[in-house]
Amino acid sequence: MEYENHPLLRVLNAQQRAAVTASLGPALVIAGPGSGKTRVLTHRIAWMLSELDVAPWHVLAVTFTNKAAREMRHRLDRMLGDTSTRPMTLGTFHATCARILRREAEVLGLSPNYLIFDTDDQLTVMKQVVADMGLDDKRYRPRSLLNAVSSAKNELLTPEHYPVRTYYDEIVVRAYVSYQEGLRKNDGLDFDDLLMETARLLQTDEALRDRYRDRFRYVLVDEFQDTNIAQYVILKQLALGHRSLYVVADEDQSIYSWRGADCRNITRLREDFPEVHEFLLEENYRSTQVILDGAQAIIAQNPDRTSKYLFTTKSGGYPVVLHEAYDEQEEADYIVLETQRLLRTGYKQSDVAVMYRTNAQSRALEESFIRHNIPYRLIGATRFYSRKEIKDVLGFLRFMLNPDDDVSFMRVVNVPPRGIGAGTVGKVAAEAQRLGTSLYRGLVSLVRSGTLRSRAERALTSFAALVHQWTVLRDELSVARLIDRVLADINFESYVRDGSDKGESRWENVMALRAVVAEASTVSLVDFLTDVALVADVDELADEVDAVTLLTLHGAKGLEYRVVFLAGLEEGLLPHSRSVDSPSEVAEERRLLYVGMTRAEERLYLTYAFRRGWRGYRGSEPSAPSRFLKDLPAEVLKQPEDRQHRGAKPSWSVTSWGTQSRDQRTAEPLPELRFKTGQRVKHTYYGEGMVLESEYEGRQEMVTVVFGNGIGVKKLLSHMAPMEPLPQH
Ligand code: ATP
Ligand code: MG
Repeated sequence: MEYENHPLLRVLNAQQRAAVTASLGPALVIAGPGSGKTRVLTHRIAWMLSELDVAPWHVLAVTFTNKAAREMRHRLDRMLGDTSTRPMTLGTFHATCARILRREAEVLGLSPNYLIFDTDDQLTVMKQVVADMGLDDKRYRPRSLLNAVSSAKNELLTPEHYPVRTYYDEIVVRAYVSYQEGLRKNDGLDFDDLLMETARLLQTDEALRDRYRDRFRYVLVDEFQDTNIAQYVILKQLALGHRSLYVVADEDQSIYSWRGADCRNITRLREDFPEVHEFLLEENYRSTQVILDGAQAIIAQNPDRTSKYLFTTKSGGYPVVLHEAYDEQEEADYIVLETQRLLRTGYKQSDVAVMYRTNAQSRALEESFIRHNIPYRLIGATRFYSRKEIKDVLGFLRFMLNPDDDVSFMRVVNVPPRGIGAGTVGKVAAEAQRLGTSLYRGLVSLVRSGTLRSRAERALTSFAALVHQWTVLRDELSVARLIDRVLADINFESYVRDGSDKGESRWENVMALRAVVAEASTVSLVDFLTDVALVADVDELADEVDAVTLLTLHGAKGLEYRVVFLAGLEEGLLPHSRSVDSPSEVAEERRLLYVGMTRAEERLYLTYAFRRGWRGYRGSEPSAPSRFLKDLPAEVLKQPEDRQHRGAKPSWSVTSWGTQSRDQRTAEPLPELRFKTGQRVKHTYYGEGMVLESEYEGRQEMVTVVFGNGIGVKKLLSHMAPMEPLPQH
């Protein structure tokens, strides 16, 4: 083939070359992990720019994280040997939509300086909604309501279209309406709004749609299997113009359905673009044959999947190590000691990653890494930008940008403590309500009326004066200077540095923020705040540091490491206890394991603990190893007798599966069932009902109840459901 020696194609195999050089119409690359999907996408962009005369400003490329976007741009710049990709739009859906909406804010009735509300802000607004509606926040948990609203938005369901089946749904709709009002009143959008509003604008405003179709003539998407409906609609609306949509996907790696991702988007794409060209990539360049075999055996058990052929030339490889630890501490120590051993054989710390299902699992690991003096970096958990001192400083910046944002007002009005308590704020709130305006304007009105006289009220007056000055300075000073000014005006340093070690580290954080800002010296305040709001957990990875990476399986998408430890492979963790009752959720948990395993290049360790959290509140229930482990073929595993580093012999192990049933292993008498057939019950959301059946599934009581009011039959977990037996007559 004449192309073979083209510098952009030389480093690709024939299938990859075919995909990269496809014609400009719609294209779908479906391929397994490590087969070069991301590489193909990157080369495709370079190919379009350099060989197909595509202008970079007509390209929109969407990645799953900001970090992936940065890497892709960096690669492109290196490949093309210049910075011609600058005018290209390359980022996550959220970042792209945030920019579009900044431009189109007016149509939505927002100011171009609208703010993006993060999870905490959202919760603040929803709590207020629940309080205003006079609801009991135990029954109607703001967090649950937010989840419901979020799912609705991801499916582009406005309150008017939200399907109401139960009383709870009705509450959701009302909360949804008030919550949106709350956001708009504060000139805010939440993450889901960024997608939903963009999708709706593109659907309803023809002139606007045409403008963006003309702008984004070539749309490319990585990790397409994890797009949600709103994102698909955005892609479709844009691509229906020039019909140049290029996506890469792997259904087996779809792990975000709990956030609305819908891999049926692949089918939708085929329907909406029937002329789509499909490409397969079948060579895996990442992992050894052994790792690949293990991973393939796991995923092969999922129902309803199209199996994909995947091979590697890295035949053989180290066997997969399966390790049973006594508890999570021993598990952590095993991982750390094994890491230490590998470091002595020439691996770098940054070659190693430890992945787990839930953030809480990182604690034992961290302790052990600290104890053994191995540097690690923790992705997620307490994110830099969610630390209190950082949120405070950002709160001031946000408030400065938009003093009518009541959420920020509440955040900063008494930071550092100025003696402004609930009563004083109440007075402001009353004034704001009287005038039908924001808290800040309410405050200004009170100051003008001269009625603020007590000490707390005088504090309010000087606060108002400060804010006024800041809103003037906001347009004159750089973000860095603004921060300096705020820190000085409120004497933040002496507040934060209270003499304790924690205080010192808090102040270091503030200075780190100051440094980030100084680096981005040309950025405007609103752009800075947008960037900060869109930073996701995985984006905090600083690539240069040589440290072991600790991260959740969800955060591991697209990444690769020479050595991977997957910890906590137990029933209840993976699959997660929330998922075990639903076959489709169990299938997703299995994909999560598959994603984790396929991150490994050379060595893969799978660990589980016999008892977890037994020193904590969870009691000493033994845990069972993950059901997925029994699908691992014996050939890929290192045999147990090799595991001499363990002291005690495991009380039972996965290899003994054939001989011992699970119930024998965990044989402890089951407590009496809580519910009996015929028992009348009352459920918080579904109302009154009658138990049809109650039985143990595993060690959990599963109750089947028929409810009135058209709700019908529900299967519920006894210890989870908000449901009480009613007295029998
Ligand atoms: P995932 O599904 O995990 O996102 P992917 O399909 O996107 O994986 P890439 O990350 O693009 O795969 O590639 C996996 C690894 O293989 C990378 O290190 C990449 O550089 C390498 N690779 C891909 N194609 C080739 C090739 N033709 N020759 C050599 N290395 C390759
Ligand atoms: Mg990839």
